[in-house]
Amino acid sequence: MIYNVAIFLCTLISMEGIGFLAHKYIMHGWGWCLHRSHHEEHLGALETNDIYLLVLGAVAVALIVLGNSGHDPLQWVGAGVAAFGLIYVLFHDGVVHRHWPVSPKPRNGYLRRLHDAHLMHHAIKHRRNNVSFGFLYAPSELTLRKQLREMGVDRDRQPEPQDGSLCSTPVNPDLQNG
Ligand SMILES: [Zn+2]
Ligand SMILES: [Zn+2]
Repeated sequence: MIYNVAIFLCTLISMEGIGFLAHKYIMHGWGWCLHRSHHEEHLGALETNDIYLLVLGAVAVALIVLGNSGHDPLQWVGAGVAAFGLIYVLFHDGVVHRHWPVSPKPRNGYLRRLHDAHLMHHAIKHRRNNVSFGFLYAPSELTLRKQLREMGVDRDRQPEPQDGSLCSTPVNPDLQNG
């Protein structure tokens, strides 16, 4: 049992690294056409960015099914992936973006740090030169500001051309920032 719990926790922690890389290099890279909806104002409850969450859910279910069909301990890897997705939905969608009816704003501590770091990710309108791509770990605000300075990002002037994504069709210039 301890072995399985260790696999679960290792997967959950590893998902933060995988999520960081996927957010930075896929979602803000060639997969920007799906993620862009999350960086724009929208009215509906759903956004194309949710497709990434569906993929995550499908991977978790596939691993759990495989594990339960004799490929032990893949079900525990799947449970770690599912737990990461659940934390993401509850905290990212609920607490940070306030998509849920009850959305308490964290006042201090670890959750406040995650909350503020993610809001900075949204405040910086650059697609490429952005900060805070992770979620369960967030650098301090000072560190994030230092990273922005090193990238030469000015929060008041944030033009960014649309390039290199699968959805490279011309779009409204006002919508290119994100
Ligand atoms: Zn993003
Ligand atoms: Zn967000």
